Amino acid sequence: MATMESLIGLVNRIQRACTALGDYGGGDQAFSSLWDALPSVAVVGGQSSGKSSVLESIVGRDFLPRGSGIVTRRPLVLQLQKTEDGKEYAEFGHLPRRRFSDFASVRKEIEDETDRITGKTKQISPVPIHLSIYSPNVVNLTLIDLPGLTKVAVEGQAQSIVEDIENMVRSYVEKPNCIILAISPANQDIATSDAIKIAREVDPSGDRTFGVLTKLDLMDKGTNAVDVLEGRSYRLQHPWVGIVNRSQADINKNVDMMAARRKEREYFATSPDYGHLASKMGSEYLAKLLSRHLESVIRARIPSITSLINKSIDELEAEMDHLGRPIALDAGAQLYTILELCRAFDKIFKEHLDGGRPGGDRIYGVFDNQLPAALKKLPFDRHLSVQNVRKIVSEADGYQPHLIAPEQGYRRLIEGSLNYFRGPAEASVDAVHLVLKELVRKSIGECQELKRFPTLQSTIAGAANESLERFREESKKTVVRLVDMESSVEYTSHSQELESLRSTEAGFSYQHK
Ligand code: GDP
Ligand code: MG
Repeated sequence: MATMESLIGLVNRIQRACTALGDYGGGDQAFSSLWDALPSVAVVGGQSSGKSSVLESIVGRDFLPRGSGIVTRRPLVLQLQKTEDGKEYAEFGHLPRRRFSDFASVRKEIEDETDRITGKTKQISPVPIHLSIYSPNVVNLTLIDLPGLTKVAVEGQAQSIVEDIENMVRSYVEKPNCIILAISPANQDIATSDAIKIAREVDPSGDRTFGVLTKLDLMDKGTNAVDVLEGRSYRLQHPWVGIVNRSQADINKNVDMMAARRKEREYFATSPDYGHLASKMGSEYLAKLLSRHLESVIRARIPSITSLINKSIDELEAEMDHLGRPIALDAGAQLYTILELCRAFDKIFKEHLDGGRPGGDRIYGVFDNQLPAALKKLPFDRHLSVQNVRKIVSEADGYQPHLIAPEQGYRRLIEGSLNYFRGPAEASVDAVHLVLKELVRKSIGECQELKRFPTLQSTIAGAANESLERFREESKKTVVRLVDMESSVEYTSHSQELESLRSTEAGFSYQHK
């Protein structure tokens, strides 16, 4: 398989990339998969034209039943699969987990499995046999060996067999992804070739048809196939390739593939008719041609494969960002992770408070707007009206009117006034509390690291709100205490004003006495 080496290298590199991205072929990625970019290769042609022989020499192994008469009676879907471990073996779809390392027993199993469905008859079955060959020396490629096209039903075959085979073959080669190896024996007139007939039908442009002429060694003396091989008899997009496979006598004598190839090379090199074409003839050249074609098919797909890879990378990176780093298993490391996540939340919350993120300014708004506005609305006019001052002073005096200054009364007046401050002060605490609670909610939402831990999110929210609730109670107590403290201070600092108030009041009360 030396000719397939460059293709193997190319495909392996791309396939490694695709596999790394989770593309194992056959999946639901449909058209985007590299595995779909690789075409399948099917051999078509008349019965005994040499289809199985050609397929074998492309694979480079002897494993297919060959011979005269109808030998291939079920489609054989052969999957070549590249392995890295150097082992070479085959596996059948109907015998999973059984490894065949001896290719003679692979052939035996193909024969037996064919008979299992059709009996030892000349009947055919469209049920394919699935065979995988694992080897370090192949590309992942699907090759299909098909029953030969016939003209008449022979003894023991249904009348419909001619059509049945044709329909079965067509169902494989009509797929646009299928490369057709159209096998025609050189010892028959090309005008009667079944292979060319069906290939032209499903691939009129000839883009995916390779014309293969077998049995050059069996031509009548005095005739040659130069006209066909040079494309004068029937033009194809791709050049015709002449082949000399092993004869039935060679098969009977167990001539191996290496020897067969050597003989084939010699045949062309020494042939008076084909000597000038020798470098473009033979099984090895066919394999090379095929691999070059596969390579160009794959190269044409590389841009879309590249974009698939880039798209997958982008998607995976986005997912990675979303998932974050893996979580450690031991408790210590987990605690560390949790603390780190809490710190991340903490940082965002701080930014909201200190600036950088919006929200903290609303706290300032509480003290700058809300509180002064509420204080302005306090009913001091009523509380400090002459009428009320008199009422409170006399109530404070009780049955003993004051002599010098109505000290008790003033105290009550001031206390009463400051009591009005409690309401707005407590309301400010509630307002700030609401802002902080909202900031906790926002910060958790904005913390990317927390995104994948919903339980931790609600735990942090719960803990934060609980603390805020506690702080609210403490703050209220503090604020009220501050108001109380202010009451005492106010009394002394405003004694001057009280003094003047006192004289007014004194005069007032004096007049009324
Ligand atoms: P298939 O029926 O198309 O799969 O053809 P096979 O590969 O089974 O071959 C049918 C018979 O033709 C076998 O006996 C082969 O040995 C023989 N045969 C195939 N190709 C050649 C060839 O190029 N030269 C000679 N001499 N015999 C061939
Ligand atoms: Mg065959």
